[in-house]
Parts: sequence; C-alpha cells; structure tokens
Amino acid sequence: MTDTLHIVGGGLAGAEAAWQAARMGVPVVIHEMRPQVGTFAHKTGDLAEMVCSNSFRSDDSEQNAVGLLHWEMRAADGLIMQMADRHRLPAGGALAVDRDPFAQSVTRALLDHPLVTLEPGEITALPEDGRWIIATGPLTSSALGAAIQAETGAERLAFFDAIAPIVYADSIDMSVAWMQSRYDKGETEAEQKAYLNCPMTKPQYEAFIDALLAADKTEFHEGETAKYFDGCLPIEVMAERGRETLRHGPMKPVGLTNAHKPDEKPYAVVQLRRDNALGTLYNIVGFQTKMKYGAQTDVFRMIPGLENASFARLGGIHRNTFINSPTLLDDRMRLKSRPNIRFAGQVTGVEGYVESASMGLLAGRMAASEILGRDLPPPPPETATGALITHITGGAEAKTFQPMNVNFGLFPPVDGLKGGRRGRKDRYKAYTDRAKTAWADWLGQSALDAA
Ligand SMILES: Cc1cc2nc3c(=O)[nH]c(=O)nc-3n(C[C@H](O)[C@H](O)[C@H](O)COP(=O)(O)OP(=O)(O)OC[C@H]3O[C@@H](n4cnc5c(N)ncnc54)[C@H](O)[C@@H]3O)c2cc1C
Repeated sequence: MTDTLHIVGGGLAGAEAAWQAARMGVPVVIHEMRPQVGTFAHKTGDLAEMVCSNSFRSDDSEQNAVGLLHWEMRAADGLIMQMADRHRLPAGGALAVDRDPFAQSVTRALLDHPLVTLEPGEITALPEDGRWIIATGPLTSSALGAAIQAETGAERLAFFDAIAPIVYADSIDMSVAWMQSRYDKGETEAEQKAYLNCPMTKPQYEAFIDALLAADKTEFHEGETAKYFDGCLPIEVMAERGRETLRHGPMKPVGLTNAHKPDEKPYAVVQLRRDNALGTLYNIVGFQTKMKYGAQTDVFRMIPGLENASFARLGGIHRNTFINSPTLLDDRMRLKSRPNIRFAGQVTGVEGYVESASMGLLAGRMAASEILGRDLPPPPPETATGALITHITGGAEAKTFQPMNVNFGLFPPVDGLKGGRRGRKDRYKAYTDRAKTAWADWLGQSALDAA
C-alpha cells in the first residue's frame, strides 16, 4: 500500500501540494486548523483562502516573472491556477480572482478527490515519523511555531519580516556609486569591496529626511501589532527620533572614501549589500520601512546613484513566520535535521499567493515522488519555480535572509544581451522563452521518471 502524505495547513501551498500528490496517485491527509482555530487574517474555514488582496498580480508570461510562474503552474496542471482562471475577474493585465468562489472551488475539488482526506484540527508538534509537508504559512499557530523553533533554534525562525528594498544591480548608476566595505575590512578584495555605496551631500541628506518624514506610511493590521526591536526599526521611525539619527546609524559616512571624488567627504552614505550569489540584486542596508510602495520609490530614487533604480521588491515589516531555508532545507525542500518533513509555501521564505502555491506544487510533487520510490530533482534555475527554490535553498544570503517574491534578478543572466533599461524587453523575453523550454523539459523528465 502506498504511504500517506500528511500536509499541515490547507492554504495556497498546502492545497496545491495535496492536489499534485493526489494526481500522482498518493493518498493525502490535509490537517487544517480553521475554522476551529482561527488567525487574525483568515475569515472562513475554506482551503486556499486569500487573506488580503484578490490579485495574483501580472498574468504576462513573456515580460513578467510572476506571469511566468502562472504559466509554469498551468503547464503542471496546478489546481490553484485552474480555479483562479475559472473565477477570474476583469483586471487589465493582472489576474484578479473572485476570492470566495475560488476558495470554495479549491476546497470542493480536493474534497471530491478520492485520495484526499481533510482532518480538521491544529497540529501542535513536529511529527516523529511518516511523510509530512508543513505549509502553515505566515500565521503558523504559536504551538507549532514553538515546536519548529525548538527543532531549528530560535534564530532560524522569524515571526516578523523586516524587508529592506531590493534593487536590480544593473539599474544602479555606478558613475556615482562605488564598491567598498567600511574601513576596507576583509581579507580578500571581494570582501574589501563587498558593499555598494551611494554618497549624499548635506542638502541631499536634509531633503531625504524631509521626504521620509512626510511620506505616506502603512499601519499594522489589527491584531498584527509588532513590538519593534531596536536592531530593526523602520527608517522613518529612526528619522522621527532625530534628524541626525540615520547619519549615526545605517547612513553613517565613516570609513568610506568616494572613489569618484576622493577629496569630497560625503555627509551621509547609503550602503547596499549583495543579496544573491548571482550578484544581480542588492538590498539597501537597514532600510526596512512601513512607507507605502509609491512613497518608497519616490523617496529611494532621491538617493544619488539610485535615480533610475528598478526595485525587485520594496521594503516592509509584517507579521510573518518563516524559517531560514538556506541553512535548514536541502534542495528537495526537506528539513536537513528531519528529512521526513518538508516545508512549503510562505513559511519557507517566499512571499505571495502565487509563489507560495508554486512551492506547494513542487513540495507535493517531490514528496509524492519519494513515496513512489523515485527522486525528483528541483527544476533548473532558468525556470521561475527553479529560480525561487534555488534562491531559498542556497542562492540567498543566509545571514540576512528575508522573504522573497519571484523576479528576474533570481534568474541566471542570459548571455550576450543588452543591459540597462533599453534592453529590458528583449532580455525578459529571452528569460521567459528559455524558462518555458526548460520547464517543459523538466515536466517531461518528471513524467518519464514517473512512468
Ligand atoms: C495580513 C496578511 C496579508 C497578506 N496579503 C497578501 C496579499 O495581498 N497578496 C499576497 O500575495 N500575499 C499576501 N499575504 C501573504 C499570504 O499569506 C501568502 O501569500 C499566502 O497565503 C501564503 O500561502 P501559504 O499556503 O503558505 O499560507 P496560508 O495561505 O496562510 O495557509 C496556511 C494554512 O495553515 C493553517 N495553519 C497554521 N498553523 C496550523 C497548525 N498548527 N495546524 C494546522 N493548520 C495550521 C492556516 O489556518 C492556513 O490555512 C498576506 C499575509 C498576511 C498575514
């Protein structure tokens, strides 16, 4: 008899994982705590409830990385995409979804599947044996959170994300910025030039502080309240504490010499740190923020060198339970210390409905393959799904790991194409063409392995 796969959490990731495993012939039990135990954001007992916006973002599979993820999930017979398409609402190029009928249809499709059982109730401990996927999302219950923390160590499970904005390296003006670590620290040249620095004069700094103070901010959701801890204050809160606070904190100009103007001492310096092994993304150090997205782009483009910056993601601070996947998971999404347990969805450190569902798709297929006695390797990093899994299980900087949504900065560059804004359309098309071929090959390979 085929082993059963247990999935904790019937959200976007758990629902997709269950569907993928069941369609491969593996019996699945979904353990979902709602409606018996609620969260501050969920309103129903349905599986795959969308807790906030009703958008799956861009549906453009040629020019947008999340649109490409839609395409890959459709090609893999994903349940979430099937039902999102069925309950699509008009929204221009975006895929907006009629959320209640969507969640009800996902629930119905799973309950109607002969291999799927729903077992209501909260799971409070990490299971000792059997095959499991933990897909409990950003609002993982406290008891299970504590159990995960006991297994992984306190510093490897976060309850809030504090995301600094991430900029595409090729959109930074290097005639203004320069590479240097503070006091040239480090043994190797790479370490001595690990940071990208953007200098500010006094008037630029003053204007920047004014803009920060005036910018529109978002509030925490009701019930989501965060106690800021001092290492992680939003920059605008630091600015509120005093106009000079940032200049003595993340924007301090000491130990740095402007490579373009060595005789001019900057009044303040914004530092960016490499965010992935590919070197295509840089995060603005210490710039976690609750500013609204529109305000963030306006304010951050005031930083010299970032006037034309393109953002792979903007900053934020939210209630969000996630593990340090780069250190804890192997490339098959298994917990290294307990390989019978996989993690999937937002709890792995991806961000967003679509990304979470795609990690569910992958975990469901990998777990089912294992139960069927086969090994399913991850998809190649040239695909959107592969780029995400490669990032969270290895490509990301473990020390500064924060949730990530899919973006082209996670993809290996395509050689021989024009950089900068002008070449962007051709570049994105080249990425997505390459991804579609690679995804079809990987799906074909998985099917062959399953035959
Ligand atoms: C307030 C808020 C707003 C958000 N807004 C957006 C948005 O607008 N757009 C977007 O793309 N993303 C948004 N997100 C992120 C969103 O939650 C994820 O993108 C997506 O829901 C993650 O899917 P998931 O399956 O990983 O988690 P979820 O969809 O949250 O599913 C996890 C499931 O696990 C269950 N569960 C938790 N603990 C246990 C347990 N111990 N035992 C059994 N069941 C358990 C939960 O009840 C839940 O059903 C938001 C998140 C929050 C918290």
